[in-house]
Amino acid sequence: MIKTERKYPGFIRPVWEMTMASKSEKKYRKIKRTHIGVSIIEFVLFAVIAAAMISLTFFRFTSYIVNTKLDSEYESIRRTALLYEKAVSDDDDDLFEYIKGEGRAFIVTGPDGSIVDSFGENTCSDKGSSIFISSAGERITAYADTEKDFIYPLENGGIGISYTRFHEWINSDIEPGNEHIEHVMNNARYLELPLWVSVDIADGDMHFTARASAIANRTDVLIIITAVGAIAVFVAFILITMLVSAIRNVVRQRRMLDLFFKDIVTEGHNWTWFLVMGERELKKSVNSRHKYAVVNFVLMNYRNYCVCHSLKEGEKLLCRIYRSINASLKRGEKCAHTTSSNFALLLKYDNEQELAKRLQDLIGRLEKIDDDHRFAFQAGISLIDRAVDGNGAAVSRKNIDIDTEYNNASMARNSLGDSDDSGVVFFDDRLKEEQKWLDAVQERQQRAVDNGEFLVYYQPKYDPKTNVIKGAEALIRWDSPEFGLVPPGKFIPIFEKNGFITTIDHYMLRHVAADQKRWLDLGYKCVPVSVNVSRAHFIENDLAEQVRDMVDAAGTPHELIEIELTESAFFDDKKALLNTINRLKNYGFAVSMDDFGSGYSSLNSLKDMPLDVLKLDAEFFRGESEGGRGETVVSEAIRLGKLLDMKIVAEGVEVKEQVDFLAGEDCDMIQGFYFAKPMPVNEFEDKIKPDLAASGTGAAAGEMPGQEEVTDG
Ligand code: C2E
Ligand code: MG
Ligand code: MG
Repeated sequence: MIKTERKYPGFIRPVWEMTMASKSEKKYRKIKRTHIGVSIIEFVLFAVIAAAMISLTFFRFTSYIVNTKLDSEYESIRRTALLYEKAVSDDDDDLFEYIKGEGRAFIVTGPDGSIVDSFGENTCSDKGSSIFISSAGERITAYADTEKDFIYPLENGGIGISYTRFHEWINSDIEPGNEHIEHVMNNARYLELPLWVSVDIADGDMHFTARASAIANRTDVLIIITAVGAIAVFVAFILITMLVSAIRNVVRQRRMLDLFFKDIVTEGHNWTWFLVMGERELKKSVNSRHKYAVVNFVLMNYRNYCVCHSLKEGEKLLCRIYRSINASLKRGEKCAHTTSSNFALLLKYDNEQELAKRLQDLIGRLEKIDDDHRFAFQAGISLIDRAVDGNGAAVSRKNIDIDTEYNNASMARNSLGDSDDSGVVFFDDRLKEEQKWLDAVQERQQRAVDNGEFLVYYQPKYDPKTNVIKGAEALIRWDSPEFGLVPPGKFIPIFEKNGFITTIDHYMLRHVAADQKRWLDLGYKCVPVSVNVSRAHFIENDLAEQVRDMVDAAGTPHELIEIELTESAFFDDKKALLNTINRLKNYGFAVSMDDFGSGYSSLNSLKDMPLDVLKLDAEFFRGESEGGRGETVVSEAIRLGKLLDMKIVAEGVEVKEQVDFLAGEDCDMIQGFYFAKPMPVNEFEDKIKPDLAASGTGAAAGEMPGQEEVTDG
């Protein structure tokens, strides 16, 4: 079987167009995607933003403090530069001395960049100068210090801070005695951050470049640490919260996947998992040389086992079976517990015999899974590589609907019927046809009733001695516009299974009662007509009252209606059955046992049930009767019935010798093709019309209507 052909682009394919497996796959992906995906994205995004925020704050804040600190230094250098300019123009040695006395290192460069004067240690970097804008908005050229280039001017103004340099510097000067290190290491009160600042003098021909020092003390460091620390703590808190939530999501997702895929009974995989993983496996192995089969594997009589040993024990047993099956799987094969004692398997195989043998061996092992018990298992197999579409073309493995295949496998398994023995069966075309027929009937059943497609045929029952009609049986036919005239054997068993038989029995009873009333009013020679009532119907407590009410509604005398019960009905609740039979009899209906002798002996039922009519099954009159053994059985059955005060009807009589024999044995009526086949209402009416009776040519007048041509079925 295949999936519905694609009519929609994937993403807008409506839900009803999707297979169970696709729906499950979609949900599975959704569960996986939502939780982990969102959490990871959230976490990473926030971490990046937080890192950027912290760095930016730290840089900006530090740079602001350093800048502020340096501001007064710029002022002082500018003033010194002006003094120097004045000292040069006045050639004022005292002023030179005064400037040097300030102790600030400086260099003076000429127009060609050569140093014309200097004081103190020259640690001014020759590169990296750029335009530096002081907090007063002045443009100053600044240079990093070659020795302590912790800070440097930035291209766009402001001050850059080199943490790498700090780090190197701290690590390289770790020896005790180093004053800077000691400052840093022993909670120093200050840290010097030098920067060389250049001021133009002599109308821009010369540059006075002096060392400016920002002194960062403990308070500054504390302010920075506190500000950045507060943000960092806040960010860390959010990150931890997010991490916890992400972990929680992952755990929750795992739990959801567990719920989605885990079977509660066996703790193994469930049906949804089978659908998703099974289809994935098939898609993955499109080109594999292995063939695949879907199997419905069932432990029989599981409910009985649970009743006898408790549900808990039953579930333990299922667990063991599940584990055992799982252990026997090859790579890529799947097994899941679906419902009750059903397991779904996806197996690889090379040829069918080998697959059947493998399953039989598995069953053989599992039958002995418990020392004290012998279990039975049944397996239905659907070979997916045999799947064909509506036109009979092979279906590609990637288009296989695993759900449908499992359904086919289950159907094959069901075809083993009521048998509780172990067995392995393949899904084949016959089963497929049966399934199609079953669907067709079930789909049309109610419409057929509404449209009056079900017809009542009557088969007369004759007195073999006088050839007079003494009764009739109402038999259903389905006059289907599509399938033609369908015999009851093709749909009654279906209705018996699906419960629609109750509707059919009512339908027949109402029609028969109405016909009888009409014939009575027309003055026809009415004979009792028997109506088949299914075993399923007999379960209803008020069946007798239902029959009475329906017959009364038509205004038909009760003695004209007989109720036929099949032999199998007598194996049900005997007490209830006896009760219903008694009530029917009290209302004046005759009750007969249909098909007596067809199944197991119903002699016991004869003993218990006060029945009016015994209908000998047609099988008594089939085949060769060796040495009159058959005749002996029939004559003894008739004698027994008579002794129990019952009327005897022989069914399925087709030849004259049988009629003569039955007449000799005092059989009351014969219902068989020898006299008449089941016939439509109008034909039956012809046989009971009074004018025929008056003219003396009909059966009603006591004559046989002429032997019917005997054909099979
Ligand atoms: P049944 O109640 O035992 O009906 C007798 C069946 O034997 C009828 O088959 C009838 O046509 C067939 N028969 C009678 N004489 C001969 C004969 O000489 N030779 C052969 N070969 N067959 C003979 P039919 O009509 O096909 O019905 C089959 C069964 O379907 C019935 O067996 C009955 O169990 C069920 N059925 C028919 N109509 C109804 C109905 O309205 N309600 C229920 N619940 N079951 C029905
Ligand atoms: Mg019958
Ligand atoms: Mg019968």
